[in-house]
Amino acid sequence: MEHILRKTGFQRLERDCRFRRLMSRPCIFFDRDGIVNASPGPDYVERWEDFHLLPGFVASLKTVTAKGYPAVIVTNQQGVAKGLYSEADLNDMHHKMRAQLREQGVDVLDVFQCTHFASDNCDCRKPKPGMIFQALEKHDLVRSGSWMIGDSEKDVEAGQAAGCRTIRVCPLTEETKAEFHVASMDDVTAILEKELAPCAL
Ligand SMILES: [Mg+2]
Repeated sequence: MEHILRKTGFQRLERDCRFRRLMSRPCIFFDRDGIVNASPGPDYVERWEDFHLLPGFVASLKTVTAKGYPAVIVTNQQGVAKGLYSEADLNDMHHKMRAQLREQGVDVLDVFQCTHFASDNCDCRKPKPGMIFQALEKHDLVRSGSWMIGDSEKDVEAGQAAGCRTIRVCPLTEETKAEFHVASMDDVTAILEKELAPCAL
C-alpha cells in the first residue's frame, strides 16, 4: 500500500513537473506588417483585400511550431485611433488571417494589438514591451529563450526591453541593435532552424 502511495505521489510530482515545463515555454513574437503580411509602407492595411501573407512568415511559423514554440503576433495599429478602420475590422482581419494560416497547417497562439495614438503614451505601443509582457502573463510564457522578430527598430527595442533575442528584417544598409539582421523574411527560417533549440515538453 505504502509502495503504491509512494508511486502515485511520484507520478503526481512527475506530472506536475511536466505541466510546469509545458506552461513555462518561451515564445516567438512576430510584428505584423512587413513580417506576417506584406508591408503597406507608411500606410495601414485597412481592408482584408490588402492583407497578403508573406511566404517567409508561413515558413518561419512552420519551423517555430515544429520546434515546439508558440508564436504570438504583437502589432501597433494606430489606424484604429485615427478612425481609418475599427477594432472590429481589425479583429475580423486577424480572424481571417488565422483561418488562412490554419489552411496551411499552422496557427498563432494569440494576437495582441495596440490601437492607441502614439501620443497616448500607453504602455502597450512598441517600442514599449507592454504587449509582450501581456502575452507572457496571459499564457504563462517565459521571456528567457523568447525571440522578437520585426522590421522596425521599435520591434527590436520592445523585444530587447522584454529580454528577448531579436531579428530585424530590413535593408542591410539600415542600422540596428538587433542580434540578427536580414534583408528578407525569406532569410528568417534559416536563423530559426539553426538557433532555436527544440523546446522540450
Ligand atoms: Mg512592421
